[in-house]
Amino acid sequence: MGKKIEGKLIAEAFKNEIRELVTCNKSKAYRVPKLAIIMVGSDGGSSFYVRNAKKLAENLGLSCEVFHFQDDTSEESVIDTIEDLNIKEDVDGIMLQLPLPDDFNEKYVISKIDCEKDIDGLTYKNIGKFYSGEKCFIPCTPKGIMELIKSTGVDIKGKNAVVVGRSNIVGKPIAQLLLDQNATVTICHSKTEDLKKICSKADILVAAVGKPDFIDENFIKSGAIVIDVGTTMVDGKLRGDVVFNEAIEKAEFVTPVPGGVGAVTTTMLLKNTCEAFEKNVR
Ligand code: NAP
Repeated sequence: MGKKIEGKLIAEAFKNEIRELVTCNKSKAYRVPKLAIIMVGSDGGSSFYVRNAKKLAENLGLSCEVFHFQDDTSEESVIDTIEDLNIKEDVDGIMLQLPLPDDFNEKYVISKIDCEKDIDGLTYKNIGKFYSGEKCFIPCTPKGIMELIKSTGVDIKGKNAVVVGRSNIVGKPIAQLLLDQNATVTICHSKTEDLKKICSKADILVAAVGKPDFIDENFIKSGAIVIDVGTTMVDGKLRGDVVFNEAIEKAEFVTPVPGGVGAVTTTMLLKNTCEAFEKNVR
């Protein structure tokens, strides 16, 4: 029987760090860090994430404003809002919740975010820095995942890591961060052949597919670390990609959903906002 990786507990240490930073800087900067979140549409998983981010930000003493647009909003309206936020001195971080509606040119909208406020590392400049190993905002979900893996105490170096999913916001960046830590990384996707076989050899398995219960015990190597990134709303409940009860029987460490990756991701978002704030008020 493996152990649950308690994302909530791991996030707690970071939350204390953030609280302290906000308190210490309040008198110096005459303001608190501010995060602006832009969301378009009403995707269940996204709404859950945005609601939690705002609640947590305010709980930790940051200011957070959500700009929630309906599905039929024009791309121009969203861009206008981004441009306004770019020039507002009291806004430190801008988070654009993805995905945007199908008729949006997502890359173009992202390109409008000021790189210095791009706390989720979505812009080309930040992506370039990230994949070149330069200092930059590390995308929040992969940054959180690395903290969860580190919390197990397992040395990543030389481990066989398999990432299922190749999105720009999760799959590719987590693969890069694992590679940076000297894991041997395989990235899988919907066209991968023998997926089960590849996954069942992974010492570290990261599932970022978005299909509830996709990864069952047959995909898992005994003693593995299993990170479930999936968050799909089913009948009002958040579900991961991994069959948790089966995974915990076979793996050494497994993240739950909710209370795993999501719990740490939100905290990383606020950590990045604080880093942007510190640069701003320095
Ligand atoms: P995405 O852009 O839809 O990517 C999903 C990936 O899964 C794609 O690369 C896709 O392959 C792959 N895939 C789909 N079906 C597959 C199959 N049968 N076999 C193997 N691979 C398959 O999703 P995402 O944005 O990366 O998000 C993934 C999940 O994580 C979602 O549930 C999302 O809500 C969740 N998420 C959670 C957090 C958090 O903080 N907890 C943050 C971000 C996302 P192709 O590329 O070939 O299509």
